[in-house]
Amino acid sequence: MLEPEVEARPWEEQLALDDASYREQLAYLLERSPFYRERLGSAAKAGGLAEIARLPLTDKGELRATCTPENPVGAHLCAAPSEIVRIYSTSGTTGAPSYVPLTAGDLDNWVTGSARSYAASGVAVGQRVVTTYNAGPFAAGAALAAFDRIGLCHIPFGTGNTERLAAAIELLRPEAAVLTPSYAAHLVEWAAERDFDLAGSSVVRVLVAGEPGGGEPAFRAKLEAGWGARVTEAMGVGDIGVSLWGECEEQDGMHLGARGFVHAELIDPATGAAVELADGATGELVLTHLRHRAAPLLRFRTRDHVSVRTGPCPCGRTGPRVRCVGRTDDMLIVRGVNVFPSAVREVVGAFGAAVSGNILVRPQAAGVKQEPPLPVRVELARGADADPALAEAIRERLRNVLVVQTSVELVPFGSLQRSEYKSKLVEH
Ligand SMILES: [Zn+2]
Repeated sequence: MLEPEVEARPWEEQLALDDASYREQLAYLLERSPFYRERLGSAAKAGGLAEIARLPLTDKGELRATCTPENPVGAHLCAAPSEIVRIYSTSGTTGAPSYVPLTAGDLDNWVTGSARSYAASGVAVGQRVVTTYNAGPFAAGAALAAFDRIGLCHIPFGTGNTERLAAAIELLRPEAAVLTPSYAAHLVEWAAERDFDLAGSSVVRVLVAGEPGGGEPAFRAKLEAGWGARVTEAMGVGDIGVSLWGECEEQDGMHLGARGFVHAELIDPATGAAVELADGATGELVLTHLRHRAAPLLRFRTRDHVSVRTGPCPCGRTGPRVRCVGRTDDMLIVRGVNVFPSAVREVVGAFGAAVSGNILVRPQAAGVKQEPPLPVRVELARGADADPALAEAIRERLRNVLVVQTSVELVPFGSLQRSEYKSKLVEH
């Protein structure tokens, strides 16, 4: 553990500290944030963290709507220009990027939380880590500083040149590699096509982040076999912080590395109603800054749909753990049943040697609501033939596990698009 006195602190104690931070943060918002002053009115008198669910949720679109040429960040900007030391952009799925400013203290807190999250994977001082984020203007860049903070030797690489990356792994012998799950999977295929012994390389830990997938058992097993390494995942939210969550060696959900800086809640994505953060609960993750200065957010809807574990973890870190099930944005509703494309991939992945693990959901109707059957393309394993019995078995399993009627089309290996960054699981 990077900071045992923090990470193993009893969760009740953490919540008490967070409650004090939260009350100060609320006072700061009322004093400095035009956006929240208008929204909260007297609601801020609602009290502490225990009553937070009474306050309104914040949606990214609402922040965006307050941007002007004079204030391109939005009306939630609290800090003076002289206090801002960095401005990241988030790659908005629609329209123009939005800007995320940070004060020096904000940036330091980001790196602190990110370092705890990545250190949970088991990487240790003196080891080498190769990273593959094309961070550029994006918040992921701040995560790179976490590797220095942990005391690792950092070998930065982008995506786009797998040959060079493979050569660096062979020659510089890093113990760990940081990739998106899609790129980690791409490297496994790339190595198999060239007789490159990825499983025999120096890499014994693969740290994945940037999209859901690293926690899906079948997908993870494939990555672990291909890399000959242990795979753990991390997750952040550009508007809130980088690598807020990180999985430990137990591989049973991600711990909140950003504890003390961020408060987590769950809601029902359809109604916005609060869902108790209890063992086995699922819902959309909602995050609140506790000690942020530049542009703090209150009850921000992350669009990440997670499942929660609260049982004690053998690693000693306390607090709830989460696993990302999918993006609320990707969710489809088929005859009243919520279906995440990442969950479809997980079910299909369990067909192991028969399939490649790549899928594409192709909804027929525009929007979220779909009529059954939901068309799903499933890519076969290398050299496998399209067997109608396999398609039927997959269809049956999807119906049993996800309670959704699908039509399964088996397609040859290599026919679905590969990504060196994030995979597309839905195509309308
Ligand atoms: Zn743990």
